[in-house]
Amino acid sequence: MKWSEDEDGMCKLCGDKLGTVPHILAGCPVSLSQGRYRWRHDKVLKQIADQVKFHCERRVNKRKSSCVTRKAIEFVPAGGRFKEVKRSKVSEFGILSGATDWIVLADLDKQLKFPSDIATTRLRPDLVLFSKASKRVIWWELTVPSEERIAASHELKLDRYNSLQAEIQANGWSCFSFAVEVGARGVVAASLECASRKIGLTGRALKKLVRDCGKDAAHCSRWIYLLSRKREWEMRAV
Ligand SMILES: [Zn+2]
Repeated sequence: MKWSEDEDGMCKLCGDKLGTVPHILAGCPVSLSQGRYRWRHDKVLKQIADQVKFHCERRVNKRKSSCVTRKAIEFVPAGGRFKEVKRSKVSEFGILSGATDWIVLADLDKQLKFPSDIATTRLRPDLVLFSKASKRVIWWELTVPSEERIAASHELKLDRYNSLQAEIQANGWSCFSFAVEVGARGVVAASLECASRKIGLTGRALKKLVRDCGKDAAHCSRWIYLLSRKREWEMRAV
């Protein structure tokens, strides 16, 4: 079916491929070079960075060392049997446990500089968390692919960090690398939840992170779609 005389179904930006939803939202080379996808990627990254930073600064770093071994006091009803008191879990914050000096860096506007006391590299993972006290570094690499390509993106993403990882480990640091995906239409991949749980970001905080990332991706994709007939791209802050 033709909508009008000039409607041939081709992408209005590259004119080279059919203007399908996956093409417009994540596969057009013109959109890519104009920074339309980068804009959406950075919106989602900002959301992740803000919430992970809050988690590290307000929950993990604020934790007093006494909490780690504090015993829970349980009420024993009259005539009730005394229950064995459990220790609160030491591993509550996963990989972040045992240190309270976590710093979070995000590669927004391509500005990240990898901490030079961990390794010298020009690579810029999207999100870097590190603790000098525990000599641990974690990074997240974010992709916002079309939902059809979530699995493929996950496979591809981390290879380029292999040599950096080896160098960091040789310097005596532990290194944890995660690829996370948020689908362009707002379907958040399990990889984001998995990476969050590894740093103790769980429960309501995790639900909020997943919801907000999905919302941001879908919001930006809506604009990318609406403006896919317009050759100029001047998106700044929507
Ligand atoms: Zn195109």
